[in-house]
Amino acid sequence: MARYTGSVCKLCRRERTKLMLKGQKCLTEKCPIEKRNYAPGQHGQSRRSKVSEYGIQLREKQKIKRSYGLLETQFRNLFDKASRQKGRTGENLIKLLERRLDNVVYRLGFAPSRKSARQLVKHRHLLVNDHLVDIPSYMVSSGDVIKIREKSKKLDLIHSSLKKIKDSIYPWLSIDKATLSGTFLQVPERSEIPLNANEQLVVELYSK
Ligand code: SF4
Repeated sequence: MARYTGSVCKLCRRERTKLMLKGQKCLTEKCPIEKRNYAPGQHGQSRRSKVSEYGIQLREKQKIKRSYGLLETQFRNLFDKASRQKGRTGENLIKLLERRLDNVVYRLGFAPSRKSARQLVKHRHLLVNDHLVDIPSYMVSSGDVIKIREKSKKLDLIHSSLKKIKDSIYPWLSIDKATLSGTFLQVPERSEIPLNANEQLVVELYSK
């Protein structure tokens, strides 16, 4: 499958916000957004012309999609799934994004970014309810227990990442650092999810 191989920091600069794609670097002054909070490229610093309604909706969609590291087709498929569920499509979409296994592994602190969480999953380091799962888009459900495989428990990446998080950083997750396992207690409410984005604009964009 096609994937984005360019500088992820440029994606943040394009959206003019921190998408937190680089793990620890995002929290330091080395983050390029701290020094160059303008779009990349030759005309990045030029005065912005009036942005159309479509442009605003598009940027918001890109921001959410890039935060979770999805490609357009994956994102659109998830949106279609969200629109078939009961309730508000935008909120359903964010909840589905949160339930992806790569995101849960990142939120649990087993990896410093969603990208490296995806690598951990793909490289078969994770168990869900004691079964090996190597699909990053796997949908985690309430009560699922996510564990690091026995043979992977010495990986430096996991330990250095875990050191940087508190014990219980999100109310819908519990983590046991001693056994390198965590539980997805329940699907979070939209208000609990730390994502500074307006998902309603995505609904409006895709409704055109
Ligand atoms: Fe974005 Fe992180 Fe790069 Fe900063 S360091 S621009 S937050 S990916």
